[in-house]
Amino acid sequence: MTKQRKLVLAIINESEHHLTAEEIFMEAKNRINSIAFATIYNNLNALVNEKYIARVKSPGNPDRFDKVTIPHEHVVCDYCGHIMDVHVPEIKEMLEKRLKLSLTSFSLDMHYVCDTCKQS
Ligand SMILES: [Zn+2]
Ligand SMILES: [Zn+2]
Repeated sequence: MTKQRKLVLAIINESEHHLTAEEIFMEAKNRINSIAFATIYNNLNALVNEKYIARVKSPGNPDRFDKVTIPHEHVVCDYCGHIMDVHVPEIKEMLEKRLKLSLTSFSLDMHYVCDTCKQS
């Protein structure tokens, strides 16, 4: 693994959040000043392909990158866009039973208001 790729992976693993490429770039620049956005972008794609990280697509928003690669769902705060992981592995089984279909994939679009936004 190249030094740049290790750095990108480390930033994602150290973060408690689902970062965008832009956020990863800002953090990487603090550590390697000369690093280019294209380098970040290429390394993110490679890390996703190698399954070190997962890509989280959200329509109308930039992709985010997730250190948790086992299947899980996300709930998004309507106010600040913060993403929280939820692990409900039985959802797929429940849907399949109900629909009498075998699903190759599915996605849930769940939203909530996070604690920080509730307070303000
Ligand atoms: Zn919020
Ligand atoms: Zn996640």
